[in-house]
Amino acid sequence: MDWMGSILEQIEQLRCPSCTAQLSEGMVRGLSTEESRLLIRIACAGCGETTLAIVEQVVEDAPEGVPLTNDDVLDAHDILDSFDGPPERLFRLAA
Ligand SMILES: [Zn+2]
Repeated sequence: MDWMGSILEQIEQLRCPSCTAQLSEGMVRGLSTEESRLLIRIACAGCGETTLAIVEQVVEDAPEGVPLTNDDVLDAHDILDSFDGPPERLFRLAA
């Protein structure tokens, strides 16, 4: 998973609010995470102004563009069929 690439892509679209220079040219001064977001402080390469940027962190559970096949569905059916226990346990196993 290329999570860094998606973050850089988002930074490339950001511009400095004071001089409109591209922030991707600037220096990342600080970083903090907050659930699915990253807070990044970037010092503008043009005017030196520090801007706070919020970048969404893309979290993928499954590879993109790979749909479930009929076999996957049948496998899931077999697992459920052979499973003997309370559903809570099943979901704890899957998590
Ligand atoms: Zn600037």
